Amino acid sequence: MIIAKQITQLQKHLSRVKNTKQNIGFVPTMGALHSGHLALIAASVSRNNFTVCSIFVNPTQFNDKSDLQKYPVTIEKDILLLEKMSCGLLFLPSISEIYPDGEETVEKYDLGEIEHLLEGFHRPNHFQGVSQVVERLLRIVQPDELYMGQKDLQQTMIVKKMMTLKRINLPLITVATKREPSGLAMSSRNERLSADARSKAAVIYQMLLYARNNIHDADLETINAYAQRKILESGFSKIDYFSFHDAHNLQPVQEWDGRQKIVVLFAGFIDGVRLIDNLRLN
Ligand code: AMP
Repeated sequence: MIIAKQITQLQKHLSRVKNTKQNIGFVPTMGALHSGHLALIAASVSRNNFTVCSIFVNPTQFNDKSDLQKYPVTIEKDILLLEKMSCGLLFLPSISEIYPDGEETVEKYDLGEIEHLLEGFHRPNHFQGVSQVVERLLRIVQPDELYMGQKDLQQTMIVKKMMTLKRINLPLITVATKREPSGLAMSSRNERLSADARSKAAVIYQMLLYARNNIHDADLETINAYAQRKILESGFSKIDYFSFHDAHNLQPVQEWDGRQKIVVLFAGFIDGVRLIDNLRLN
């Protein structure tokens, strides 16, 4: 696997790949790789001749700077995992490589209402940062396909919107959420949980499933109240949201007509760590 820290290095290698008409799949990450990331790499490897993975902890998407400082970094281990997965190139840029004019001069995107819902409400400016970094990475790598995880459902929708705004025309492939045996969605942040909190955090998936299993028999408010109570009783200190939304545009759904495609999304804190998850209900 080639490791490129500079854009010039990356582009030199990728021009060779492109000259031989090979397809490039791209998987952007922030590192501390786990099986969820590797599922994205595997999906890209299976559909493309060449896979590029980036590891870049993007400062502009962290509204909470202490979260940025605590973000786990495990580069040596990540490299070994990517090599095992037959990743072709790892892009490992510095902050100044991505933001040569500084982080303050980045442009603003008109992402519409979805920017301010859910994650956007609780992490102001987060999706501006996500859009900035993904646009820059796509312009640098110029892949044929982009791979992202269902775990960050709202992020995939934001990136699609950014690509439409910027006329970046390529398929975004969404890969299903990989879970630990307990059902907890894999996340780099799980590394910061104590063993006890990690096992208690399995309640998130249990309550997402509870919602899925009960939408036909109970109203959303009743399901919501039960799920939130169970999550708090299991040791979560705060719930940012456990709520029902339209699966296409994430508009909140208060009452379900039995036909609308809906998704339940969760974000909350346990052990001082913020976890998110979601599940399509029908
Ligand atoms: P991150 O490094 O957390 O920014 O994630 C990089 C990519 O991996 C994003 O597209 C995430 O949605 C995806 N991802 C993270 N966790 C999982 C998971 N448990 N299952 C599938 N994809 C994931």
